[in-house]
Amino acid sequence: MEHIETIAVHAGRAVESGTGAVTPSITLSTTFERDRDGSYIHEFVYTRSENPNRMQWEEALAAMEGGAAAMAFASGMAATAALLQTLRSGDHVIIPTDLYHGSRDLVTTIMARWGLAATAVDMRVAANVERAIRPNTRLIWIESPTNPSLNIADITAIAAIAQERDILTAVDNTWATPVWQKPLALGVDVVMHSTTKYFGGHSDVLGGALILAEDGALAEQLRSIQLLSGAVPSPFDCWLLLRSLPTMPLRVREQTATAATLAAFLARHPGVSQVHYPGLAAHINHDVAQRQMQGGFGAMLSFEVVGSAEAAMHVAANVKLITRATSLGGVESLIEHRASIEGPHSPTPDTLLRLSVGLEHVDDLTADLEAALG
Ligand SMILES: *Cc1c(COP(=O)(O)O)cnc(C)c1O
Repeated sequence: MEHIETIAVHAGRAVESGTGAVTPSITLSTTFERDRDGSYIHEFVYTRSENPNRMQWEEALAAMEGGAAAMAFASGMAATAALLQTLRSGDHVIIPTDLYHGSRDLVTTIMARWGLAATAVDMRVAANVERAIRPNTRLIWIESPTNPSLNIADITAIAAIAQERDILTAVDNTWATPVWQKPLALGVDVVMHSTTKYFGGHSDVLGGALILAEDGALAEQLRSIQLLSGAVPSPFDCWLLLRSLPTMPLRVREQTATAATLAAFLARHPGVSQVHYPGLAAHINHDVAQRQMQGGFGAMLSFEVVGSAEAAMHVAANVKLITRATSLGGVESLIEHRASIEGPHSPTPDTLLRLSVGLEHVDDLTADLEAALG
């Protein structure tokens, strides 16, 4: 199994030996029987530590990213929190200035109270990361493309800088998906996903994941945090995510093709001052994106409306087919005025609208945006 389409259909799945069921069953039991001598007959003890559906899902996740180990969590934030919990009080992390606001708030509020120091840098330039390194830097957290500005970091260059100094690197690969970007192959140690987005793909299940290049000491530590912090996904959530996986490469490819067309349309529109999409030749790091993303730039884009915040709100208010809602990666297109959800400290321009491109026909989406832009 080399191609991602084949991995998506077969990883984590096997015909069930007891019944011949082609599709996995859901094992809801929280507890599993012991033998008379106290040993466990099967490999399962208690669902927080292991469950058949979670094991299948974790196996599939590792295969999708080409990793050696994977841990599934109840949300993307739980996965991020678990990785941060491997650090010690007094350690230092480097984060991008414009990462997902939840990750930024987790680092700068909760983890800061536990003694974690953080520096935010503009990761569009790898040298900025190098300059921010301190003797106690333990983790470089990369997000590329970033949410919501679609900035691109040179993952290979940053991973090389980190490797020289024995610093751990992690990439939030939620937006790119493994269909377009494989950070582990670029030299990164850990990939994080909000599986709520493209893996789930239908806006009906919350989940997160960490996938590691090596099944070593860090994997052991993360499994113990997963078990003891307890933010594990339910068997049904794991089943739903595995249920969505076979169609993920198809969905992502189609959504990406539509996003590329919409980005070009918006870039030509007089009511739009700027389009943020790494697939556009005008994007500041288009060449880096082309190098590290395998033939596609994802299905997320942002654009700035000419005028004020009110003008942007007006466009969001006037779309009919596209739904005004947060989140992304589902089959339905969503639009969001990002600054208003990110709060008063948001660095996002208040004329920016973020678009998650779904599976509707490209002409219908174009017409909806055209009418709303007036
Ligand atoms: C949504 C999102 C998260 C958070 O994931 P949840 O599943 O909502 O906890 C993290 N990073 C990125 C880039 C996201 O889009």
